[in-house]
Amino acid sequence: MRAYCFRLYPSKAQEKELAHHLWLEKNLWNSLLEKTKNKYDEEGKFYSKTELQLMVKDSGLYSQSAQAIAHRLHRAIQAKIRAKRKGQKWGFPRFRSFERMRSILYPQSGFSLGEKLKVSPFGEIAIVRHRIIKGKIKMLCLKRESSGKWHAIFTVENELQTPKTNNGPAVGLDLGLNRLATLSDGKIIQNPHHFRKLEEKLAAAQRNLSKKRKGSHNRCKARRKAALVHEKIANARKDHLHKSANRLLSIYSKIVMEDLRIREMAQEGHGKGIYDASWGMFTHLLCYKAENAGSEIVFVNPKDTTKECSRCHSIVSKSLRERVHQCSSCGLTLDRDVNAAINILTRATAGMAESNACGDGKIIPSLKQEAAPFRVR
Ligand SMILES: [Zn+2]
Repeated sequence: MRAYCFRLYPSKAQEKELAHHLWLEKNLWNSLLEKTKNKYDEEGKFYSKTELQLMVKDSGLYSQSAQAIAHRLHRAIQAKIRAKRKGQKWGFPRFRSFERMRSILYPQSGFSLGEKLKVSPFGEIAIVRHRIIKGKIKMLCLKRESSGKWHAIFTVENELQTPKTNNGPAVGLDLGLNRLATLSDGKIIQNPHHFRKLEEKLAAAQRNLSKKRKGSHNRCKARRKAALVHEKIANARKDHLHKSANRLLSIYSKIVMEDLRIREMAQEGHGKGIYDASWGMFTHLLCYKAENAGSEIVFVNPKDTTKECSRCHSIVSKSLRERVHQCSSCGLTLDRDVNAAINILTRATAGMAESNACGDGKIIPSLKQEAAPFRVR
């Protein structure tokens, strides 16, 4: 399955109608949820899927979209029940405001795609098809972004592709804060410079938003504006991660990374937030693209990868600020992250013929000479 996302340009009348349908969805969701809660309070059990489906008739929505709401609620409740049985924490579905209702689903039919997107009951909506859909369309989601833009997201069943074979080398990869990643062969994947500018813009937009009175028209406008910048950052980041992942997988047959779950546990409270999201998404992209690229992703234990000397394996403690690994036992001087990346690679390939992780003991004077920035395109 694969998703294609296209920008929609509804007319003023269509936009009003779309918003009205989100409002109907919100009402439907909230009323189903309330009935569900009442039933549970009185009888100690939940509605079945069929019962929920019967309750969504006459909602004023396209029947399939209304059914999809019933499905969503049913799934959310089932997830809650499963989690409870396992003793895990899981929130019960919540009542939603209009702002939280974002999408209208068409699980099977109700739409056709030509020059424009024909979708009931809105008629033909202008769409920008910036790429060709390969495969069979299974589902359509009309989505309103926080910025007020509309998108059509098609879920498509892919034909199976034969995976490529990749004879490239293995590499260790250390995820970072300032750079996206450092590789064991000294290459670097930078975070594009314009990210910082966008982030500053976002901070300014959010400050501006916080000054506006709640419920005011100006606040609504400021929220849209902040959401637009946020969307821009998210898109730029996603684009960068996709391109970087593709580039890596076209070069290396095996990419060794730290197991982030273990790393997260070890440094709780550290580097949370936006970077974690990037790391998680990057790892996810590498994993799901790897198969078709004929490459393999390997995860290793992150314990002491930054402290260990990649040549003699003695432990060299360093603070977060120290950017250079300097070993007093064997004299190795190396960029801190390259040293870590080599350790990561060693953990997955130690003792194998292909392993080039041990290094030849050459002292690398500075990162600038050895590590040419790894630029995508
Ligand atoms: Zn050493």
